[in-house]
Amino acid sequence: MADVTIIGGGLAGCEAARVLAQAGFASTLFEMRPARPTPAHQSDRLAELVCSNSFGSVLPHTSKGVLLEELRRLGSIVVRAATRHAVPAGASLAVDREGFAGDVTGAIGAFDSIEVRREEVTAVPATGPVLVATGPLTSDALAASLATHTGDASLYFYDAIAPIVSAESIDRSVVYAKSRYDKGEPDFLNCPLDEEQYHAFVDALLAAESVAPKDFETACYFEGCMPIEAMAERGRESLAFGPLRPVGLNDPKTGRRPYAVVQLRREDRDGQLYNLVGCQTKMRYGEQPRVFGMIPGLQSADFVRLGAVHRNTFLNAPRLLADDLSLKTRRDLFFGGLVAGTEGYAESSALGVMAALAVRAKLRGETFVPPPRTTMIGGLMAYLREADAEHFQPMNVNFGLLPPFEEKIKGKRARRLAAARRALTDFDAWIAEQDLGWLEGVPTEDLFEGVDETVPRAGRRARRRDAAKEAGD
Ligand SMILES: Cc1cc2nc3c(=O)[nH]c(=O)nc-3n(C[C@H](O)[C@H](O)[C@H](O)COP(=O)(O)OP(=O)(O)OC[C@H]3O[C@@H](n4cnc5c(N)ncnc54)[C@H](O)[C@@H]3O)c2cc1C
Repeated sequence: MADVTIIGGGLAGCEAARVLAQAGFASTLFEMRPARPTPAHQSDRLAELVCSNSFGSVLPHTSKGVLLEELRRLGSIVVRAATRHAVPAGASLAVDREGFAGDVTGAIGAFDSIEVRREEVTAVPATGPVLVATGPLTSDALAASLATHTGDASLYFYDAIAPIVSAESIDRSVVYAKSRYDKGEPDFLNCPLDEEQYHAFVDALLAAESVAPKDFETACYFEGCMPIEAMAERGRESLAFGPLRPVGLNDPKTGRRPYAVVQLRREDRDGQLYNLVGCQTKMRYGEQPRVFGMIPGLQSADFVRLGAVHRNTFLNAPRLLADDLSLKTRRDLFFGGLVAGTEGYAESSALGVMAALAVRAKLRGETFVPPPRTTMIGGLMAYLREADAEHFQPMNVNFGLLPPFEEKIKGKRARRLAAARRALTDFDAWIAEQDLGWLEGVPTEDLFEGVDETVPRAGRRARRRDAAKEAGD
């Protein structure tokens, strides 16, 4: 009889099964394909990549680069297979998708203590520990069963993501802090648009190239997750009377009401990230920094997360999950991968490893200690615990998730390299405390070897191109 039931043989489920196997625990890994396909997967392989074949940048001053390095240091089966099946892609880790998924499928099959069962799990098993890693396309029957544990209002089926910018890149001489009608604390930053700026912004929204919804996504456009450009199509003034309405938001500099206002809502505890309220979008990633950069105050904004609207099953993590990724109301039911409230291949893999380490701790009667928040995985887990539950959105890794330095470090690139160094040093210290004997064979490399820290800061256009690239456009 297996020690653990894992549901979902994707990136997270495979990472979880191998961690538990290496830790000496037997698991049953349920994967419903090929008997029951999803609308996006094409094969019967485990760990199939459903869209892009890229895991993102491996450069040390990028958030993905640091995350991939942390995963590698955890002996990640995903990163190992990706490295073996890498295809030339500049500074990104891109793979031959069939070779990659075949490699992971073979590696999982080689563990005697993992039983792979090709069956759909239609209800959450009553006996734990259970680790749910069923991803964005969780089957309907299981989603309905999960909803009985989470409540309907905390289990989502669509992502309507607005872009997020770093606080340091917002032009404070233009925006002003204020809540509508001055009710409560002035928690929002407000970007005022005059009539001309508003109409230019609407024109740009309407002219921008969008991503066509997939067949299984078309039902998505109920109010509340309608893309901003779809709302703008209803009439040139609809945004000014909708999410960009200026009432109660007079600009203290002029004393007058702007024609329209884009509000920025704080996204994290330290106030390093701001979300563009109501700006969920299906515009292509390459278009977003250009169009949203027309908003006064955001001309030089650093877009750490671009917007999207797509099918996605995920939990409201800050409301539902405990520190060890188990359900607060059922502590033997764990969540890993995208369903736990993250985005991205590497992030999903990381949360598969973390959920498995948490299950291991439970089986050993120990307390799971997540990596420190100065690390990429630790920063992501802190976000899942501490994000505003009212407006929770799944998150990719980014440097805004890490605590700022007390001393001022000049230049974005230098700040990022310093944060990356600190992340990996702290990650190694955390690993050393975790009793991960199986890591002995994992080579340690210096991610920073040959990194030129004197490279001049990129221009605005290059920064936007990089942001779009890093987001995987
Ligand atoms: C259409 C789409 C495109 C995406 N494109 C990208 C991209 O280009 N880049 C990127 O970084 N991220 C992308 N993502 C987001 C995310 O990174 C991936 O979905 C990632 O694969 C998530 O990993 P996971 O392990 O959580 O889930 P998955 O890799 O989806 O694995 C979940 C597995 O669970 C199985 N399953 C579901 N329900 C059941 C059940 N009831 N019983 C048994 N098995 C079940 C599924 O068949 C699947 O194999 C995309 C998401 C979607 C929906």
